[in-house]
Amino acid sequence: MAAFIFFLLTTYYLLSRKGGSNEMLPTSSEDTRVFRRVLFFFCDIIFIMPDAKTSAKNILTKLFKKYPDPEIALRFRNPFELLIATILSAQCPDTRVNKVTETLFRRYQTAEHFAQADSEKLEREISSITYYRSKAKTLIECCRKLASDFHGIVPQTMDQLVTLPGVGRKTANVILGCAFGQQAIAVDTHVLRVSSRLGLSHSKNADKMEHELMRQIPQDKWTRFSLALILHGRETCTAKNPRCPICVLYSECEWPEKKKINAIP
Ligand code: SF4
Repeated sequence: MAAFIFFLLTTYYLLSRKGGSNEMLPTSSEDTRVFRRVLFFFCDIIFIMPDAKTSAKNILTKLFKKYPDPEIALRFRNPFELLIATILSAQCPDTRVNKVTETLFRRYQTAEHFAQADSEKLEREISSITYYRSKAKTLIECCRKLASDFHGIVPQTMDQLVTLPGVGRKTANVILGCAFGQQAIAVDTHVLRVSSRLGLSHSKNADKMEHELMRQIPQDKWTRFSLALILHGRETCTAKNPRCPICVLYSECEWPEKKKINAIP
């Protein structure tokens, strides 16, 4: 192992020398770039991933101690209702969505009901939801596709779910994890912010972050982890005025600003 590490470091040093030439090494800039990527990949495996996994393990332990049985805040009785509620919940508080869906689900119980809905009437019925006009249009389009391609039944795979209008990976993961009991990490605004502050992932792209988290978190804990992280983001690691002094993850957190926060808001 020591010899291998020595080989990697030496090779990287040689590659890093400006204008250095060595016939044994790739000579074109494209070759060098690919070669460097391979080297970084191995260096990641040897030096960084074990650290990241330890840190993720500690975070999981403390997070699950605080939230042993985290649950989604949206109310639903079946996968179809969760699909509708999740589309409505984009940039809208779950409490408001729950209030609207309580009545909405009495009037519209199937994909066919939404597919045949009058768009202006539906807009009025969900008018307290943010972006209600575009969401009414999305619900109708999504349910038309659901009725035509899936007989009105919510599919159980990522590939099929993302073919529905209004359904991206985040919504699909919410449905897979919370309605079908599969393991899935839904990266919403809370997961993005808290994962970044903790140092689990610094990607600003939700899909990339999802895959980075999947590499660090054991698969049998994906759904529980994302639900717990969402609760932590709502209650403690809020966007404004996070409550760092009382945070159970303080010692694991890489966010430098945490030291400047002394008072609990
Ligand atoms: S210490 Fe502060 S920034 Fe870090 S996870 Fe806790 S609340 Fe968030």
